[in-house]
Amino acid sequence: MPLSEFDLIDRFFRHAGVRRQDVRLGIGDDAAILESPAGSDLVAAIDTLVEGVHFPVGCPAASIGHRALAVNLSDLAAMGARPAWALLALTMRVADEAWLEEFTAGFAALARTHQVALVGGDTTSGTLCVSVQVLGHVPRSSAMLRSGGKPGDVLFVSGTPGDSAAGLQLEQGKLQGSAEPAAYLRERFLYPIPRVALGERLRQFAAACIDVSDGLLADAGKLAQASGCGAQIDYANLPVSKELVDVVGDARARELALTGGEDFELCFSVRPQNVGRLRQELPPEQWGYRRIGALRTEPGATVHAADATVMDFSHSGWDHFGR
Ligand code: ADP
Ligand code: MG
Repeated sequence: MPLSEFDLIDRFFRHAGVRRQDVRLGIGDDAAILESPAGSDLVAAIDTLVEGVHFPVGCPAASIGHRALAVNLSDLAAMGARPAWALLALTMRVADEAWLEEFTAGFAALARTHQVALVGGDTTSGTLCVSVQVLGHVPRSSAMLRSGGKPGDVLFVSGTPGDSAAGLQLEQGKLQGSAEPAAYLRERFLYPIPRVALGERLRQFAAACIDVSDGLLADAGKLAQASGCGAQIDYANLPVSKELVDVVGDARARELALTGGEDFELCFSVRPQNVGRLRQELPPEQWGYRRIGALRTEPGATVHAADATVMDFSHSGWDHFGR
């Protein structure tokens, strides 16, 4: 017998998040009632994942549940916000219980990690599509914006961008690699780690921040543009994982780090006078970030080789026949 919508919500969604004191009324009524902490700003983000567009057909359900929440947590992390509540709009062809079990397990594990309550949502039928909204808080007027950068700021990125793009290609069978590094890279695509703790701490140090979802070069460019300046990235300083280099080689690894996308790392700018304090209080080797360049007056985002020549990644990647 097919599950009724009520059973579905009760069985799969009611316990998919944590319990929180600030949820006055959660799942079950027409809307949720939530209590924001005094002296805070409410920070809201929403992202939609469509099957065949944002994840391949047949992607593990647990990964879809994880990623739908992770991409939003990453947006909150980029603002320096602490996540609190989520809403989930789920469209699926049929209510497959095994699939839903896995999907909510993936969602719930990440919700637990970040103490997020699932307070409502919507369930409809159609092509598989998952839309999650996350709400969180920052102390009033303290959120990090894309627009806070200035020429001369030092530019950093967390993690090892490019891994996720290679992981997706491995997942799709478009790339082959030896078992261990390939498994690592696939995991980076399927279960990205939103940098929530780093984002919250960066509020004290960073002038501007963005999460890397469309590729480091494009997103550093967006941060720079919002800040009314440009960005310069040093090719030699790009952090690439040894697993990525192992599978695709050094040049392609750096190209993927710049243009891959779906990394969900943080790219942020710091005034030169605050860099010492940043490094001291958030040791880079512990927090996993690296200096990759600087903001500058001249608009646009460019990549510079060790000999200072400008490299062209303007198309899909490094143009070997370009300038
Ligand atoms: P309505 O008719 O008001 O849209 P629904 O029957 O869609 O109500 O939902 C009933 C309750 O279950 C609501 O509180 C709603 O927020 C919640 N809900 C529905 N679908 C989901 C979901 N996918 N995840 C979390 N909560 C959900
Ligand atoms: Mg509804």
